[in-house]
Amino acid sequence: FAINMTQLQLDEELGKGNYGTVKKVLHKPTNVAMAMKEIRLELDEAKLKAIIMELDVLHRASGPEIVEFYGAFFIESCVYYCMEYMDAGSLDKLQGAGVQEDVLARIAASMVRGLKYLKDDLQIIHRDVKPTNVLVNRKGQIKLCDFGVSGQLEKSLAKTNIGCQSYMAPERIKGESQNNLGTYTVSSDVWSLGLSVIEIAIGKYPYPPEMYSNVFAQLTAIVNGDPPELPEQFSDVARSWVTRCLVKQPESRATYQELQQHPFLVADINRDVDMVGWVASAIAHRDSAPVKNARSV
Ligand code: ADP
Repeated sequence: FAINMTQLQLDEELGKGNYGTVKKVLHKPTNVAMAMKEIRLELDEAKLKAIIMELDVLHRASGPEIVEFYGAFFIESCVYYCMEYMDAGSLDKLQGAGVQEDVLARIAASMVRGLKYLKDDLQIIHRDVKPTNVLVNRKGQIKLCDFGVSGQLEKSLAKTNIGCQSYMAPERIKGESQNNLGTYTVSSDVWSLGLSVIEIAIGKYPYPPEMYSNVFAQLTAIVNGDPPELPEQFSDVARSWVTRCLVKQPESRATYQELQQHPFLVADINRDVDMVGWVASAIAHRDSAPVKNARSV
């Protein structure tokens, strides 16, 4: 069935991203709570229709580590994208109270499983792995969203994408400066995964803050500097896993299979991790100190 605006009751705003606003909505015919993302695009109707058609493949993307897609439609120059409502929000805002290593391993394992599923079963490369695109619910589930399925949508968004905190792999930064988009492979996602896992562990973007104000300096640090590492308070096993993600040469970076067979994630398989408890305390911390956790630059 196709979703349209008249079926939706708009509730509160959940957040603002680079490209638009996310609102909680109720889909009245089914009584399902959803998250609706509004993306403002100055495009003609043919291009908007193309985007809606390209997004349709998302109906096939369903797995335990993937945020479910319910449908998309457009009104005037806005695309509306309806997805599973994740009641704990994104990981970037949940790391404030700290993340113990077993929780970190569970998050990493979920991300790898989701990314591997997208690649193996759907031949989709995510292209935008970062903590804001990892959503959490109070059941303790970790799911990926915002993966690149629509070439037209990506082309339209690219023009405004000048984010300060880059999760792009070195080869991608180099490729883009040569206007060569073909350099993006699945291993570029592995770099972004490693960077995201460090950020989740330490509660801040891993490259030094003096870089924040200068996009060029930051991109130069990613291309020319040493990759960031997980700090010493984490185990050698965890640190070596992250190191395998953040190899600057894409050919030498770990594959998803290697990452899953690494002791850091093998240890997670049969371990009891209190994800429900962690999510509850992370939410309590986030909501008690909203200003301190604001991560805008
Ligand atoms: P960005 O452009 O930074 O990736 P988004 O526009 O995707 O951000 O989302 C903005 C914020 O809205 C997120 O940080 C998150 O807190 C919230 N959000 C996005 N999708 C959902 C969802 N499915 N369920 C609940 N909250 C969401």
